[in-house]
Amino acid sequence: MTAYADFYRQSIDHRDAFWSEQAKLIDWKTQPAQVCDYSNPPFAKWFVGGTTNLCHNAIDRHLKDRASQPALVAISTETNTERSYSFAELHAEVQRMAASLIALGVKKGDRVLIYMPMIAEAAFAMLACVRIGALHSVVFGGFASGSLASRIEDAEPVAIVSADAGSRGGKAVPYKPLLDEAIRLSRHKPAAVLLVDRGLVPMDLVAGRDHLWASLREQHLNATVPCEWVESTHPSYTLYTSGTTGKPKGVQRDTGGYTVALAASMKHIFDAKAGQTYFATSDIGWVVGHSYIIYGPLIAGMTTIMYEGLPTRPDAGVWWSIVEKYKVTHMFSAPTAVRVLKKHDASWLKKYDVSTLKALWLAGEPLDEPTAQWISDALSVPIIDNYWQTETGWPILTLANGVEQQTTRFGSPGKAMYGYHVKLIDESNGEELTQPNQKGVVAIEGPLPPGCMQTVWRDDERFVNTYWKSIPGRMIYSTFDWGIRDADGYHFILGRTDDVINVAGHRLGTREIEESISSHPNIAEVAVVGVADSLKGQVAMAFAVPRDASGLTDDAARLKLEGEVMKQVDTQLGAVARPSRVYFVTVLPKTRSGKLLRRALQAVAERRDPGDLTTMDDPAALQQVKDLVGD
Ligand code: AMP
Repeated sequence: MTAYADFYRQSIDHRDAFWSEQAKLIDWKTQPAQVCDYSNPPFAKWFVGGTTNLCHNAIDRHLKDRASQPALVAISTETNTERSYSFAELHAEVQRMAASLIALGVKKGDRVLIYMPMIAEAAFAMLACVRIGALHSVVFGGFASGSLASRIEDAEPVAIVSADAGSRGGKAVPYKPLLDEAIRLSRHKPAAVLLVDRGLVPMDLVAGRDHLWASLREQHLNATVPCEWVESTHPSYTLYTSGTTGKPKGVQRDTGGYTVALAASMKHIFDAKAGQTYFATSDIGWVVGHSYIIYGPLIAGMTTIMYEGLPTRPDAGVWWSIVEKYKVTHMFSAPTAVRVLKKHDASWLKKYDVSTLKALWLAGEPLDEPTAQWISDALSVPIIDNYWQTETGWPILTLANGVEQQTTRFGSPGKAMYGYHVKLIDESNGEELTQPNQKGVVAIEGPLPPGCMQTVWRDDERFVNTYWKSIPGRMIYSTFDWGIRDADGYHFILGRTDDVINVAGHRLGTREIEESISSHPNIAEVAVVGVADSLKGQVAMAFAVPRDASGLTDDAARLKLEGEVMKQVDTQLGAVARPSRVYFVTVLPKTRSGKLLRRALQAVAERRDPGDLTTMDDPAALQQVKDLVGD
């Protein structure tokens, strides 16, 4: 048996002994009494009886040996600023933020919503929350008022941390008006809003509610806020993600299991050492940002780089100049970003010394072979695909190079990671597929390993009903992805089984977009599908039935309505969710019983064969779609 195969088997066959060993990678105030309590499946409690703190493990623990080592480097090519914080400086900033939040009434167990651009204060806010046992809920800065309002309503935050604006391509993107509108729309009103004024756009402050970070920071300049030792099972954060239904789910993560899982992944998957430098190009609004911009690298005692800006501005060499300047050892990005770079000359990558890089990890969406090959040739380092989800917090499938160096196979994210009892399930009968190269739903037998979601925030029932299926004596978690596994244990991901689409690595629920579009007064019905796109992986495409089509007699009228619909999605959900096209039809393809033929619609939109259409009510419906998208 190879070293990794043995490591993996230990994690499954001797689960508690395996994770008890991993638990030694972090600091505990009180040692856990039990490794895993799985007495109430599918709810798993990890490291029961242990008390710890995520911020302590990310910062305080390193003060003894590396107080003056850079911990966080915040680089913005939007504002042309670069600021490095040592572990000691980060410690001080986080305590100032923690003291400010406490002054605003935040206590252990309270939620704090963070709606921020990629600036250092966003990291301070996240770390400050977990320091005092409050739960952060970061909302991606690209989401607009409607998305933000539904998250505020669900998380019921005591305080919100935000900023005057983000910036994209050198242009300020105001946040504060969107936040004000979201609070107006939400039934829940936060008691306080803490604002970072970057001086990008003017801000109106609401008296009694809005506070400026600069003045609170000044008041708490010398604050000492000790870490709150919390139960291992105490939630550290919630992070919203899209699923089949319109309402986003709050993925709830624990403290002890997550800290151990990240520490273990830094060692076994990333083969990372304290003092090295990690550069993840994601955003703190996504799970990669949580696990591998903020917590994972800091837990490992590494320097982490936070980047605000585009990969191509001022030019397509900007990331590699950062790699050279900061001697980056570990880089993490998404296939979409590489596809953007691929449009530029590969010589941009050769201009800089990237010899410090050990590998480039890519995740968030399928990594196509030409993209992997291009970046591999340009960088001459291993390109490592990794597959996971907001729900799991760390990779399910990849290569554990810290355990054993394994070869990458382009097109495959790799092998099942230790702790994940990965199975492929035949959707028709729920049985496990055991032969190589059979297509099934990628599933994980419970318990999920440490670091994965505990439940859906305030909705245990939704957690069980959405993700879990019982088969006699066991419970199986569905990832909602199709996959196959070859004879050597390499997996291949073949797309979602549900109505989730993946646009440039951003996970979006088509139902959410449909709900937004149908709230336009002239839209009676709409279907949104994901359509393959060479740059973004997928784009959303909408087919809408207008209530009154009498005015839609020419292209100008249709374009006007299309523009209105797009604008509506922009203001409600954010530009990330905007469909690439909105086509108007008189009828949607449905079965005789009225069920939307989503797959057929998607196939035709992608100019593929729609397959068996015997149940279709009105064949003219698909013909209209065909005529619109062309051959
Ligand atoms: P998110 O929760 O936003 O990270 O999205 C998770 C989903 O993105 C997965 O369920 C997959 O559909 C897709 N995904 C993530 N990483 C990969 C990958 N390496 N290869 C293929 N699909 C991926």
